[in-house]
Amino acid sequence: MTTTAFITHRDCWLHDMGTFHPECPDRLAAINDRLIAAGLDMYLSFYDAPLATEEQIVRVHPANYLEELNASVPDHGIRHLDPDTAMSPGTMKAALRSAGAGVLATDLVLKGEIENAFCAVRPPGHHAERGKAMGFCFLNNVAIAARHALEAHGLERVAIVDFDVHHGNGTEDAFRDDPRVLMVSIFQHPFYPYSGADCTAPNMVNVPVPAGTRGDAFRTIVAERWMPALREHKPQMVFISAGFDAHYEDDMGSVGLVESDYVWVTRQVKAVAEECGHKNIVSILEGGYSLSSLARSVVAHVKELADL
Ligand SMILES: [Zn+2]
Repeated sequence: MTTTAFITHRDCWLHDMGTFHPECPDRLAAINDRLIAAGLDMYLSFYDAPLATEEQIVRVHPANYLEELNASVPDHGIRHLDPDTAMSPGTMKAALRSAGAGVLATDLVLKGEIENAFCAVRPPGHHAERGKAMGFCFLNNVAIAARHALEAHGLERVAIVDFDVHHGNGTEDAFRDDPRVLMVSIFQHPFYPYSGADCTAPNMVNVPVPAGTRGDAFRTIVAERWMPALREHKPQMVFISAGFDAHYEDDMGSVGLVESDYVWVTRQVKAVAEECGHKNIVSILEGGYSLSSLARSVVAHVKELADL
C-alpha cells in the first residue's frame, strides 16, 4: 500500500464568498463526509496545512500583488474583486493555508516521508495569474508548489496535469516561459476564461474540447496528447490541478466525465511517475461544485493515489 497524505486545514473553511456562491466551505465538508463514509480515513496520513511564506509566494506572484491582496481583505462582509471572485475576512488565511498545503506536500514527498499527497483546500488556484486574482482564485497553489520543488529542492523538470473543466490560465501565465515545467491540460472551449486554445508555447499541451465531450474522448486525448509529452519531459515530480467540475453531474461545465475516468487518469499519472523512476505526485483540489459528485470523485481519485 502506498502512503498517501491528505492535507487540509480548518482555516480553508473561513473563506466565504456569500450564501449562494458555488465555491463554498460545504465543498470541503462534503469531501470529509464522503472520505469517512468510505472508510478511507483509516488508510491516509493526515496533515494540517501550514501558512505559505512570502518567500514561497513571491516565486510566482509579485510582492506588490500580495500586498494588494492583504490590503483588500474586508473587516466584515464581502468585498468583490470581480463579479465571480470575492474576499471575506478569512480569505487570506484560507489562501495561505491552500498554498502552504502544496508546499508541505512537496516537502513530504521529496523527503520520502510519504509517496504522494492530496490537498483538500480552497480557495482554488489555477486561474490566479501572477498579478491577478480571478475565477474564484487568489494564489496559484499548484504553481507555488511546483516552483518550490524547482527552487527549494533543486528539481530540474516537473509536470503539471490539469483536468479541471476550465483552462488553467494562471498556471499557464506562471510557466509559459519556463521550459522546466510541462503543463498538460484539457478544458471545455469556448468557455470561461476563454484562453488557452491559441497558446503556442512548446511546454504547454493545451487540448480544448467542445461541450458534450465524454470519458472515451477524454481518455483518447490523454493517451495521444498528454502521455507522449509527459514521457518525453521525464518529470521528476508530477503535480495535479485536480478540478472535478468536468463531472457529468456538475452544472458548472458541460463535459461528461465520471468517477472511473478520474481513476483512470490518476492511474496514467502514476504510470508516468513510475516510468520516470519515482512515485512523486502532489494533487491539489481546484474546481468541483456539485457536492455529491465532487466528494465521490475526490474519494475515487484519492483511493487510486493510495493504491486501495
Ligand atoms: Zn474549474
